[in-house]
Amino acid sequence: MDVSWEGLGWERLGNGVGRRRLPVWDATAALVAGADRALLFDTGSSLREGAELRSQTQRLLGRRVTHIALSHPHFDHVLGTAAFAGAEVFGAVGLAALLRNGREELHSSAVRHGVPEHEAAEAVDVLVAPRHEVCGEWTLDLGGGLQVLLADVGPGHSGHDLAVLVPGSPAVVFCGDLVEQSGEPQAGSDAVPSRWPAALDRLLALGGEEAVYVPGHGAVVDAAFVRAQRDRLAARFGVS
Ligand SMILES: [Zn+2]
Repeated sequence: MDVSWEGLGWERLGNGVGRRRLPVWDATAALVAGADRALLFDTGSSLREGAELRSQTQRLLGRRVTHIALSHPHFDHVLGTAAFAGAEVFGAVGLAALLRNGREELHSSAVRHGVPEHEAAEAVDVLVAPRHEVCGEWTLDLGGGLQVLLADVGPGHSGHDLAVLVPGSPAVVFCGDLVEQSGEPQAGSDAVPSRWPAALDRLLALGGEEAVYVPGHGAVVDAAFVRAQRDRLAARFGVS
């Protein structure tokens, strides 16, 4: 059985690497598959969406997602995690405590943004906090010579921003909401504007000039776009 990424609504970005732009909020969920293990970056806005990602990734790979990395603690990126029983979950340092203590806030934020109340309630009820926290950088060996880097590049868009670098030619950097292409970057009450430009400098240092940068929301961009967004944010927040 040969299932195509495009056929399931995914954008293929390399060998075993792709992402889907999820409906409604256009959040990216990304998949990176090595010979032995497969990493999902973000899990959608509900258990229903997480379960759909699980069945799609199973069809694409013919095997399970073994690892999950969460870009940051916003509802549209983390509420599907419980659909992946047994996966090892990673997040930026401090994310686990924030998710454990922030269920109410996550629930109300999801409902405010239009997630049906029962779906939000169900998802926060079984919310999965990361068992592994990344401070600095963490290399994850997916097998067959593919090692991806999880990098705690924040804070910026939130207090806990994690990016993923997939080496290759070109390299792919999954940026989470530190980069947005479909609109102006969203700065909510948990954003740390004064540190956001520096987080984008770290993203650019990770990927370099040739990498493909995948925003949390919107189309794939290049280093020049990320640098321009960095400069606009610095001007908007009055930091250099
Ligand atoms: Zn966000």
